[in-house]
Amino acid sequence: MVNPAQTSATTEIPPSRRVAKRLAFVLDDVRPKTVGDVVLAYHRVGARTPSPVDMSASMFERQMAHLRAAHDVMTLDELDAYHRFGKHSRQFGVVVTFDDGTADFVDVALPILARYAIPVTLYLATGPVDSQRNFPANGVPVSWSALRDALSTGLVTIGAHTHTHRMLDRCSLAEATAEIDTCIARIEDELGVTPTHFAYPKAVASDERGRGVDALVRDRFDTAAIAGTRTNVRGATDRWRLHRSPIQNADLWEGFRRKVDGGMQTEDDVRRVINLVRYRGKTA
Ligand SMILES: [Zn+2]
Repeated sequence: MVNPAQTSATTEIPPSRRVAKRLAFVLDDVRPKTVGDVVLAYHRVGARTPSPVDMSASMFERQMAHLRAAHDVMTLDELDAYHRFGKHSRQFGVVVTFDDGTADFVDVALPILARYAIPVTLYLATGPVDSQRNFPANGVPVSWSALRDALSTGLVTIGAHTHTHRMLDRCSLAEATAEIDTCIARIEDELGVTPTHFAYPKAVASDERGRGVDALVRDRFDTAAIAGTRTNVRGATDRWRLHRSPIQNADLWEGFRRKVDGGMQTEDDVRRVINLVRYRGKTA
């Protein structure tokens, strides 16, 4: 008998993405892994929306149980300390992070994290929490009072993720400054903590035009996260370019295990190839 939950989860994943994932597994087997700390990026838990990053509560619980049993789970502050002060005594760790600030973080994810005593950093976009207007793909924002309750668990670190989730490579330095400083101020006002960690919206940190956004982020925060699906090697990592491995429904269990072990570094390359093939099909 096939597990019905598993079947529906599989059929919801587009075929192209499944092919990409399968190819990534094959390449992952032959590619040597770099040893370092892994930062996981989650978005939503509870499967309330059709988003490819809205995971079922049961899958999330299975993943957290695995982290607690088989890995050294640490906070972002701990990871930062290991990187800054060269403390190499502890084994390489895994950090759990969430993006945006949707209601399911407190309602669904946090009780599971608490069950396994797993610390978490939530990168919060403060604008939607203020306005209570949905994030894209029906993401209902969390409330400030729910976040205050979440902080009282002692497991939650609040990081910054801009005020309106604006991509900072597409705005002026003045706009980027307002996005970041408003986010910091709102978190300080409502939660009484100052965020020291930052995640670039859409994981884009491009600052090639030298507008000073990069310097601004380095000045305001201890760390900043981008994408990358690769490990953060101690002694060889820019703290303001922390790589995160996004966990998606399409990963299923195997992809999750590989990402936690520092693998799947070629996934983005494979996805690019698949997109090329897709484009070719469309123009023909
Ligand atoms: Zn985000």
